[in-house]
Amino acid sequence: MSEICPICSLPKEICRCQELAKTEQRIKVSVERRKWGREVTLIEGINSREISLSELVTKLKMRCACGGSAKEGVIVLQGDHRHNIKGILGDLGFPSDNIDIA
Ligand SMILES: [Zn+2]
Repeated sequence: MSEICPICSLPKEICRCQELAKTEQRIKVSVERRKWGREVTLIEGINSREISLSELVTKLKMRCACGGSAKEGVIVLQGDHRHNIKGILGDLGFPSDNIDIA
């Protein structure tokens, strides 16, 4: 038995909800200075009900070669990734027009 999508009721393998949802996200990227001057990149605005943030953070960590986590709808990546995050999110299906970099 394959998993059924709760939104469209199709099996997850053929469901396109995540792909569609990705094109509708309004994403805000900012950089914050944490303890001891360490910088982190915050990615906010992704609807975690439609998009698996844990899956996304795994891909972002791989692409950025950094540590990171997803908590309460916000993805945190270690380091400043503002210069390449649009390209990476674009490759993952998020249109760069919908990404605001603070
Ligand atoms: Zn679906």
